[in-house]
Amino acid sequence: MIYPKFWFSPPGLLRKFYPEIIWKSAKKEVVVTIDDSPSDFSSKLLDILDLHKIHAMFFVKVEESVKHASVLREILSRGHKIGNHSITHRRLSTLNHDELKIEISSSKERLEDILGSGVKFFRPPYGSFNRAVLKEIKLSGQKCVMWDVLSGDYTSDLKIVKKNISRYLQSDSVTVFHDNKKSRNIFEESISFLMGQIFYLGYRVGEPAECLN
Ligand SMILES: [Zn+2]
Repeated sequence: MIYPKFWFSPPGLLRKFYPEIIWKSAKKEVVVTIDDSPSDFSSKLLDILDLHKIHAMFFVKVEESVKHASVLREILSRGHKIGNHSITHRRLSTLNHDELKIEISSSKERLEDILGSGVKFFRPPYGSFNRAVLKEIKLSGQKCVMWDVLSGDYTSDLKIVKKNISRYLQSDSVTVFHDNKKSRNIFEESISFLMGQIFYLGYRVGEPAECLN
């Protein structure tokens, strides 16, 4: 499968067109974001992040989160932050108004019930958004977080991950990795490669709470 460039690193024009979206870190520090938790791999994934002293922003699937609340508590207790990745992980740009309310606003309330604290950030599944999606995110009091470096770890192909990170990583990048079945075989090597590049380029990893705003 051939992936076009804009898919892994959205062009500047698109970013300018949607200034209300967070595409980059607010500081000269790289942010690590992880999508699709919780899973039965989450604990191992947290160990790998600990090894590299990374605090990440986890965008969690709310339906799964209800069933695995203990995993979310572990994510928080190990110093990470949690954001909203919708209830059912469908392409939001294909949904009607009522469905959007459930996926974006009701999901926030359900997630806040589990966490006992406020949820400020939302990432649309597959990065799929339109004006209606952005409007609902804003109405719900959340901010939409996209990225400028999609690692491509969900391809299970480490070569793609290395190419994307080498090509697109900047000192203020928002990077995306996944906690799912396709990415888990290469998660450890993907994060090691990211940290190697960050060290080589003289960059730093930042705290999600300080870098996303
Ligand atoms: Zn996802």
